[in-house]
Amino acid sequence: MASLIDLHCHSSISDGMLTPTELVQHAARRGLRVLALTDHDDVGGLSEARITAQAHGIELIHGVEISVTWHGRTLHIVGLRIDPEYSPLVQGLESIRQGRRTRAEGMAASLEKAGIHGSLEGAYRYATQGIISRTHFARYLMEKGLAGDMRKVFKKYLVKGKPGYYEHRWASLEDAVSWIKGSGGTAVIAHPGRYDLGRTSMALLLNEFRALGGTGIEVVTGSHTTTQFQEFAQISQKYELHASQGSDYHGPGLSYMEMGVLPELPSGCVPVWKDWPEARLL
Ligand code: AMP
Ligand code: MN
Ligand code: MN
Ligand code: MN
Repeated sequence: MASLIDLHCHSSISDGMLTPTELVQHAARRGLRVLALTDHDDVGGLSEARITAQAHGIELIHGVEISVTWHGRTLHIVGLRIDPEYSPLVQGLESIRQGRRTRAEGMAASLEKAGIHGSLEGAYRYATQGIISRTHFARYLMEKGLAGDMRKVFKKYLVKGKPGYYEHRWASLEDAVSWIKGSGGTAVIAHPGRYDLGRTSMALLLNEFRALGGTGIEVVTGSHTTTQFQEFAQISQKYELHASQGSDYHGPGLSYMEMGVLPELPSGCVPVWKDWPEARLL
């Protein structure tokens, strides 16, 4: 049976296609009962999402997905049931967004050298409501006819070694977890199967994350294969982390998972929402 809870998705405040209102309406149509909006490095969509959620009988969880650099790699840490007004969190996210703006200039300069003009203005035309991201550059490059779809445009221009890639340092793992925890929220490692860490580094990450006060890990996500659902279910039990799940939906027509189709967590997992009042009716 498909699950009624989705704890990871994006609106147009970050790199999703739907406004917070449209996103919540979509979740309602897909039959979801509990939804966390987790925009990248921005909580600017939560108040609008909350109003629409109330109108549709959806329990909205305040969330965020924080970009982190850990031992030279980019990781994503999801915060759930955060207080979007907690000032260290607000200030921390603002400094990440400032970093994104500087990085965007670096990306554009690098694309310029490769003969691709106007990408900064072009990307910002798609990023009017919140953060600027590689996805906005991707849309501009597609508009210019430089690649046929998102996957191709990333592969050709926006990953390490390609002209639009620009090395950037995000928040530390320690800061991200402390902003989330300090605001009363739960810190969750997003899509761990995507980092290609290997056993030793994965164990190091999980131990470090726990020592910092992180308590959750995504097990069922649109980024994992069904084999990885089982793999990370076992890891969540071994490391005594609560299991989370979410589609990572970014809007229609994108190569991401649809909402409301993910299976329930494998048995033996302890759900992150087990004591949440918002999820008591699930
Ligand atoms: P940024 O945080 O600015 O580096 O942008 C990362 C975002 O780009 C991710 O959250 C995804 O939504 C998207 N993304 C990353 N890699 C790919 C890919 N290979 N194909 C499509 N979208 C991607
Ligand atoms: Mn994204
Ligand atoms: Mn992510
Ligand atoms: Mn995401």
